[in-house]
Amino acid sequence: MKPLEQLVRPNILSLAPYSSARNEYSGKKAHVFLDANENPYNSPLNRYPDPLQLELKELISEVKGVKAENIFLGNGSDEAIDLPYRCFCRPGKDNVVAIEPTYGMYKVCADINDVEYRPVLLDENFQFHADELLAACDDNTKLIWLCSPNNPTGNNLNIEEILKVINKFEGIVIVDEAYSDFSRQKSLRSELAKYPNLIVLNTMSKAWGSAAIRLGMAFASKEIIELFNKVKYPYNVNLLTQEAAMKILDNREDVSKWVSMLLQERAQLMEAFKQLPICEKVYPSDANFFLAKMTDAQAIYDYLVDQGIIVRNRTRIKLCNNCLRVTIGTRSENSELIGALRQYK
Ligand SMILES: *Cc1c(COP(=O)(O)O)cnc(C)c1O
Repeated sequence: MKPLEQLVRPNILSLAPYSSARNEYSGKKAHVFLDANENPYNSPLNRYPDPLQLELKELISEVKGVKAENIFLGNGSDEAIDLPYRCFCRPGKDNVVAIEPTYGMYKVCADINDVEYRPVLLDENFQFHADELLAACDDNTKLIWLCSPNNPTGNNLNIEEILKVINKFEGIVIVDEAYSDFSRQKSLRSELAKYPNLIVLNTMSKAWGSAAIRLGMAFASKEIIELFNKVKYPYNVNLLTQEAAMKILDNREDVSKWVSMLLQERAQLMEAFKQLPICEKVYPSDANFFLAKMTDAQAIYDYLVDQGIIVRNRTRIKLCNNCLRVTIGTRSENSELIGALRQYK
């Protein structure tokens, strides 16, 4: 890895971040707060929330096995996807490399930040080859985007190839593990100490059943987390979100139950798809969704919409011709889907 100072945009390196009232005084002992121009009424919503969400981070630290100083929390993974661009990529100059197909936000954020996005096509098994990704890099490549299990393909990326990229690339490697709770593959979170150029993303939106609260996580070196903290909006995670997140983290048994039910349902639904005459192939899944190649994805998608059932039509995505992406629902939702597809003519 290049030294961090060489990777960070010069304006960010020299940035004096906003210092909020809550930064300047963060002790617990005081009882009269006349420093932040807050309204004394309407407690507890009248007070600015903790800008660094320390109480929540302590809880996440326990659950995820990562020290609080190695955790960044954001307004969904969306924020944690945008920040590496804003911290590392000079608009109009730098570029990033990613697998294709993958999650659409990496490219959207590249476009918003005026950063060149270089997609490298996966092979027919939806795997990538480290050497091909590295060959797409040049001196101005700051980030490599990996997603494992990958969206929309559903599979884990080969861990040896991921590690090869992390070991050989001079810049930052981001591995989005939004779906790792559904996978048997060990999370790269546990390898953070070994790889100063690694950022691992997690979210509350999938296994944790909390997409509405918008809470995304990035795990990385203390230096990278400090950089993110400097650039983020001061109060990027609101109080209601912090409280809802602590509540769901306390209900961890529910989450494990949901995950095991969904894994059971996944096996059944994938098996049922394989039996459908209109389904040509079901791709393996390590996530809470799977990709299925159909005889005519567009027509089947339209038919399902008419029945009030929405799946994701991925037919126009590279390597996903005639593919539908199906999220695993409850048993009754899954049965309704299969029932409808059996009636399709
Ligand atoms: C769903 C998803 C996310 C979650 O994004 P949030 O902003 O945290 O809701 C992140 N990455 C991938 C690959 C996803 O599919």
